[in-house]
Amino acid sequence: MQSLWNDQEAASFGTDLLGQRVYTSRLLGRNPALVLHGGGNTSVKVEENDFFGEPVSLCYVKGSGWDLATIEREGFSPVRMNALLKMAELPAMSDSDMVLQQRAAMTNPNAPAASIEAILHAVLPFRFVDHSHANAISALTCNADGEARVKEIFGKRVLVVPYVMPGFILAKTVYDMIKGRNLRAEGIEGIVLLKHGLFTFHDEARRSYELHIEMVTMAEEWLAKHDPAPLCAGGKGTCETEAGMPAHLAHEDLVDLAKLRKAVSIKRGHAQIAKLDPSPQAASYASSNGVENYGTRGPLTPDHSIRTKRAPAFIGEDIAASVQKFADDYAAYFQRNADGQMMLDPAPRFALWPNKGIVSFGDTIKDANIVADIAGHTAKTVHLAQVIGQWEPLPEKDIFEIEYWELEQAKLRKGPARKVLQGKVALVTGCAAGIGFAIAESLAEQGAQVVGVDIDKDIPEIMKKIGAVGIIVNLTEDKPVQDVVDFAVREFGGLDIVVSNAGIFPKNEYLDSMTQNDWDRTISINLTSHQKLMGKVIPFLKQGIEASIIFVGSRNYKAPGPGAAAYSCSKAALTQLCRVAALELAPDKVRVNIVHPDAVFDTKLWTAEALERSATRYGMTIEEYKTKNLMKVEIKSKDIGNMVAAMASPLFLKVTGAQIPVDGGNDRVI
Ligand SMILES: [Zn+2]
Repeated sequence: MQSLWNDQEAASFGTDLLGQRVYTSRLLGRNPALVLHGGGNTSVKVEENDFFGEPVSLCYVKGSGWDLATIEREGFSPVRMNALLKMAELPAMSDSDMVLQQRAAMTNPNAPAASIEAILHAVLPFRFVDHSHANAISALTCNADGEARVKEIFGKRVLVVPYVMPGFILAKTVYDMIKGRNLRAEGIEGIVLLKHGLFTFHDEARRSYELHIEMVTMAEEWLAKHDPAPLCAGGKGTCETEAGMPAHLAHEDLVDLAKLRKAVSIKRGHAQIAKLDPSPQAASYASSNGVENYGTRGPLTPDHSIRTKRAPAFIGEDIAASVQKFADDYAAYFQRNADGQMMLDPAPRFALWPNKGIVSFGDTIKDANIVADIAGHTAKTVHLAQVIGQWEPLPEKDIFEIEYWELEQAKLRKGPARKVLQGKVALVTGCAAGIGFAIAESLAEQGAQVVGVDIDKDIPEIMKKIGAVGIIVNLTEDKPVQDVVDFAVREFGGLDIVVSNAGIFPKNEYLDSMTQNDWDRTISINLTSHQKLMGKVIPFLKQGIEASIIFVGSRNYKAPGPGAAAYSCSKAALTQLCRVAALELAPDKVRVNIVHPDAVFDTKLWTAEALERSATRYGMTIEEYKTKNLMKVEIKSKDIGNMVAAMASPLFLKVTGAQIPVDGGNDRVI
């Protein structure tokens, strides 16, 4: 491991103590082998004058909710040293009292809550303190003879502290160990917390950080010397699969992935995004001999369990039974350890899937990617620990205490409330503009992960603006359509909502003057492409969560006008396609409905000129033309978008085969 220190960059953060603290915290945060997604914490002790001009000793410690990789000055909470040291003297202190007293001792009450390790940072008599959950330290210390190895590698340079609960108990344990000793004179530069992580400290920011790098490097070098088979190098050891075949050549089965996602979503109580990591490393690890046993023993460091639970699921031949087994085991684990708590959901956060890889779950793709990061590092580290000995993480009792610890649960609850379509995966066709775009936008606003397809080459950029993925596809072609459906499932785990919207409106196609090509093209895009799409999405929708198909029809179906035969016929046939699909898919609980919008004018198709022309043809003003319905209201594309989002939501859970007009009331339709 290399030090990332750079003099110029360091100076750009300011030469004061807090500036240096921000810089080296970020250096730690930049290395995922040290800390992942909010893990670890750092501090600096500073003498300042308070508001009244009186001198005060402060410990600026990482505030909760901040990530070391991106932390700023205001991410550090200024806590009075004398209060923290007084707390360390107490024989006992509840978590809630500790949190309260830490806040009471802050010179800025608007700063974030100080890390739960603030007292520990305060009692270490060095200006800078750096703490990480380095993978290499986990690989070493989550082992039967971890303590002996740490002593062999670091000698007297570190204090070795057996695992105790983080927070007050850990601070108190260390305080009692170092009381009355002179760590400097003893040459102690760090603390190894068995099965938890590493602390280093020094009066200079750079040295404290570089001590960290140096010690992790020593651990890594020791491990490298004793690791004859890096993960999936094709060598001996745990990489060989049971079938003896190279795991990364196994094919991915997307319908099974959707099945797995559905089983996990049901246990979770709401839809989950599922992210498959099919890399050779992940597939090889998930296929290793014995991984069902050692791979499900526990996490690298206790605070990973907040995001990943204690262990992953192991997926055998029967996917549903494997998820059920995980849930049963989780309930039993809860029963064994609970003391009045309420059980959290029994769904796995990641799963080992032999010959396929590692699947991570989350409410959003961001959440699933965070879990995937932790799962990937866990796989590498557990593999390493197995090679050098025997992976022996914390016992379940200790993990349970963390998983059900009020202070840790609080970190997760801070997120925004769930949206109605959170975790759902939606495919929308023809969404570069107009109604299609409004639908994609409304679904995304309600929390769905949208994949938008269009023949417009700007679709990737257009979808990016609403946090969706855009793919250029000609829907009349077979393979690209299959590819985009597969892409949605491969990237997000399944498919729940399909909005079949793509369509064209050829102008002035009177029967005695239209070209055959116009007719054929309209039928091909407005009808046949929808039929083709159905064949490709239905196998996945059958594994969807509250799955639904929504066709976008037209007011023209019931109220046609002259000069639009191909358009009106295609929309009438599309309506019939919807009705048949509703009949066919009802047994699988896939809902199929159609929305019939009136013309919308807030799209690029309706230029001011075109609007003027049409209004004149009807002998109306533009305003009259735009609101020519019973209610005299203009129909906007967003009205259709919101309606489709509602139809995809649980509001319409028991509605199928319905035709919903959004037209302000039309006497020919009513
Ligand atoms: Zn820690």
